Amino acid sequence: MKIPKYMTKFKCIGTPCEDNCCVGWDVDIDEKTFKKYVQIGDKQLKRDVNKYVSINPYSYDPNVDFAFISLNEQRRCQFLNSENLCLFHKIVGEAYLSNVCATFPRIYNRVDKSLELSATASCPEVVKLLDDEDAMSFVQISDEAPRLMSYDLSQGDKRYRGLLPSKLLFLRNLLVKTIMDRSYPLEDRIYMISIFVMKAFDMEKKNKLDQLEIVLEREVLGFKELYEENECVIGNPFDLGVFVELTESIVELLLPSTSDRYNELVSIAEAAVNEREITPEAFTLEIAKEDTLLTNYYGNQIYRTLFPFTEGTHVEDALKLFLVRYAILKRHMIGLSADGKMTKDNLSKYLQSFSKVFEHHKHFEVDVLELLKMNKINSKSLLKGVIGIIE
Ligand code: SF4
Repeated sequence: MKIPKYMTKFKCIGTPCEDNCCVGWDVDIDEKTFKKYVQIGDKQLKRDVNKYVSINPYSYDPNVDFAFISLNEQRRCQFLNSENLCLFHKIVGEAYLSNVCATFPRIYNRVDKSLELSATASCPEVVKLLDDEDAMSFVQISDEAPRLMSYDLSQGDKRYRGLLPSKLLFLRNLLVKTIMDRSYPLEDRIYMISIFVMKAFDMEKKNKLDQLEIVLEREVLGFKELYEENECVIGNPFDLGVFVELTESIVELLLPSTSDRYNELVSIAEAAVNEREITPEAFTLEIAKEDTLLTNYYGNQIYRTLFPFTEGTHVEDALKLFLVRYAILKRHMIGLSADGKMTKDNLSKYLQSFSKVFEHHKHFEVDVLELLKMNKINSKSLLKGVIGIIE
């Protein structure tokens, strides 16, 4: 099994966790675990199961969310005690954890029968581990038997004939390699991978996927030459006014969020942005300072989501969502840096709480794609507004 190195060090710290995963979102219970809960012997647990565990009428997979545990007024799982310990784990043992609880924050994917393991940045311990030069180099370990698989795809699947998923590994690996290449500024790497994805879906449309490798390798060389000749930042010209206007209604779709730490940082950042005390230069300086963490954050995101194949219904939607995430981060980093609050600690908190809010928002993705459609914003115009574009 292939894993990024940071996963060899990951350990859930439980009680002292600064943003416990049993706080802030509904806790999903799979069908098998639900049946165990119904037959539980412990009297106190039995009473609370009857009171707080409900069948999910909107379940999309019985192996994931057949039922759910409601949260208390502080938005904590009803089975999380005052010492932040899970009562199922404490009283009846680990075997009573649901698939989601036992797996989080790990993400298992299988591509062409090879298992991959990574983790979501919604867990604060994962974000800490990502701030290491070596975090995203890969090692092989022996396979585990995952209780939950996020994606199980085969490039040779008949359904993908002539379609981009048949090139999944080539494209995803090129994007990871590009985002991890720190000889270019981060913003330019985001620009490059956007261009690669656009080229890829254009070639799919024109039925030319057999030439994808050659064309994209030529693109990589083209960017390299551009740098050697001009030593320029790709994403110019960038218009701050257009960016602020474009991102205004996007950030609102996530607010108010269920995460206090996210709301706190966003209100500081938004106040600075709204008072227009901001410059894009401050942002460029800030991202350069935190290059390791941000590079690994994006490398991990692309790797674990099999980007651009699994977010949205089409790779163009996946690219739009990727740029939307980047735009929100950029807006808030610009705001926080204007207020002198863009510390390493705040960036880590921001990345973690943003991931938690974004990934577990029930309708943000649908809403934001609809908003872009209504305003006739395609991936190219989004890229232009968020980074700038070479015409
Ligand atoms: S968020 Fe991470 S460290 Fe915290 S309790 Fe959950 S898995 Fe453990």
